[in-house]
Amino acid sequence: TMFIGGSIGGLGDVYGNLQKAVGASERVLEILNLEDEFSHSKPFENKLRLDGQIEFSSVSFSYPTRKEIHVLKDIHLSIRPGEKIALVGHSGAGKSTVIQVLLQFYSLDQGQILIDGKAVQDYPLETYRANIGIVPQEVILFGGSIRENIAYGKPHATEEEIYEAARKANALDFIDSFPDKMETLVGERGVKLSGGQRQRIAIARAILKDPAILILDEATSSLDAQSEALVQEALDELMQGRTSIIIAHRLATIRKADRIYVLEEGSIVEEGSHEELLQDKSGIYSHLIQLQFDLKEEALSEQ
Ligand code: ADP
Ligand code: MG
Repeated sequence: TMFIGGSIGGLGDVYGNLQKAVGASERVLEILNLEDEFSHSKPFENKLRLDGQIEFSSVSFSYPTRKEIHVLKDIHLSIRPGEKIALVGHSGAGKSTVIQVLLQFYSLDQGQILIDGKAVQDYPLETYRANIGIVPQEVILFGGSIRENIAYGKPHATEEEIYEAARKANALDFIDSFPDKMETLVGERGVKLSGGQRQRIAIARAILKDPAILILDEATSSLDAQSEALVQEALDELMQGRTSIIIAHRLATIRKADRIYVLEEGSIVEEGSHEELLQDKSGIYSHLIQLQFDLKEEALSEQ
């Protein structure tokens, strides 16, 4: 259909503020990387393996610097292990904030976040974050080899595990095409990888980390069609059997979600599958989809 492959994120005001989203996910990644770096010298013993059930119960939140603005208002989410849910909504609706509080960068004003039925703050923070994988919109690799960048997800990974992760992430073909293969240096002094290649390295890293919970901040910038397909396939592989929360911009992704939560000014205003939400013709979701549709037609008629 006309929708498939369309990018809702490209619609300026409607789903926009890409810059802010990128900033937020980079910050998240930086902090998680620090945790990972720490685990290099001090690997976790008896790492707890979560099932990945997530529950937000009456969650309200405002940022410490702007207490007067209620960013999340009485949010309820109930996500079973292995479910894939999409968060959609206008820029500033609170999607990234949901992720920030889930990762425990802030404490709540009200309500609770329960993971596998237990309050999130009752888990040791590192153990908890070790169970969460993140694939940000814009992947930044550190200067080092491809191997090191992948193994970041699991410092003591075996050679076989690293190759297996790269293969599942659709990254092995391009890695093997370099003379130095896994030892190829990336980053400022190394080879320049395309956006899609960097994403597949981040996916390999996440596969190796093997978390129960995944957070995907879907890229809005378009990759070439072939790269796009390889990334999509790798993401599908990564999401298998993991609870996934996707800040979604592409209709193809949104349609595949078990459930969509529509956020508006910090509240969840609609919730359901793509088909269910479209039933309400005057709903916000329908409106967003309609907008996408109209704009596409406009774009077509301008050609
Ligand atoms: P979305 O990801 O849906 O675009 P955000 O969660 O980033 O929305 O933002 C929700 C609201 O919180 C916005 O009004 C934004 O300006 C505000 N906000 C986001 N991050 C911060 C922060 N670190 N400090 C204060 N306000 C913030
Ligand atoms: Mg955001």
